[in-house]
Amino acid sequence: MPDTDVLLGRFPKAAFSHLPTPLAAMSNLGRELGYSNLFVKRDDLTGLGMGGNKARQLEYYFGAALAEDADTVLITGAVQSNFVRQCAAAARKLGLDCEIQLENRVGGMPEGQEKVGNYLLDRLLGVKVHHFPIGEDEAAADANLEAIAAGIRARGGRPYVIHLGAEHAPLGALGYVDCAREIIADVDRLGLALGAIVTASGSAITHTGLLTGLRLFGNEAPVFGVCVRRKSDIQSPRVLKRCRDLEAMLGAGAVVADSDVWTSDAYLAGGYGKAGTETLAAIETGARLETLILDPVYTAKAFAGLIGMARQGALPKNGAVVFVHTGGGPGLFAYAHLWAPAA
Ligand SMILES: *Cc1c(COP(=O)(O)O)cnc(C)c1O
Repeated sequence: MPDTDVLLGRFPKAAFSHLPTPLAAMSNLGRELGYSNLFVKRDDLTGLGMGGNKARQLEYYFGAALAEDADTVLITGAVQSNFVRQCAAAARKLGLDCEIQLENRVGGMPEGQEKVGNYLLDRLLGVKVHHFPIGEDEAAADANLEAIAAGIRARGGRPYVIHLGAEHAPLGALGYVDCAREIIADVDRLGLALGAIVTASGSAITHTGLLTGLRLFGNEAPVFGVCVRRKSDIQSPRVLKRCRDLEAMLGAGAVVADSDVWTSDAYLAGGYGKAGTETLAAIETGARLETLILDPVYTAKAFAGLIGMARQGALPKNGAVVFVHTGGGPGLFAYAHLWAPAA
């Protein structure tokens, strides 16, 4: 096995997350589903402006930004992006400027509804906001971000761009290699083996880091990726490509097998940012059984996947099944209209 401390230690890292996050038993849910081995990794509690999975990813992007003496960090995402909100928070914490580009990725939101949740937090954090009218063109979003960066450079600034597109090095996935190591240690402390990990799979950075991390540390447990943005026929190749990119970045050789990549789009509902009845049911189940606050865009779909697979008997009964709660709580408030007003 490669010396992972040496592999990871080559990448500069900023520290601002609350780590390690807790691993908690989900015994109420487990009783309901007939499983005694369900756990949740509380990555909604990473801190940094209300938490979420982007904190771990941003530690490496900001590490790189600081190493090259950047003074402004640029990022693009949906109006209700948790990534953008946590990036703004990280920049504030480290005393850097931050400019964010918000894409219209989700149509059909009620007037004013997009102004709450993450967007409100972005404004409170006081970062510069750019609007980008297109929502499904990663290359165009990145190109526009580069144009903004060029403007900053022309004024004598030192911008650092966090790209969206899958042709850029998956630096943030290192944060989920760290998380894979934490999960292995968490279950080890409980005297358990790791049975499986269940996570949302969006840009695929989290999925890629967890899967590659497990294999780097010699663990063969499956990682079940629940699609939140794209169908499996697009998402699985994307995950595999990102794993190969991460392996190349680490210089560790191939550790992930093609057959290790598993995604399901059965819980995608109407697509990115669209909630189905199963999505809303998962939010209520999470709240009522485990006091987990889930969001309709990401974590409720992943949780619906966990529940669906448990009902089909598709989860291992031996070892710990770890659901990664990737955060997203602030985004929930932009979707209050999906519930009928209380009587
Ligand atoms: C971004 C995000 C995800 C998806 O993570 P990726 O690394 O983009 O696949 C899942 N959950 C929440 C809450 C997110 O903000």
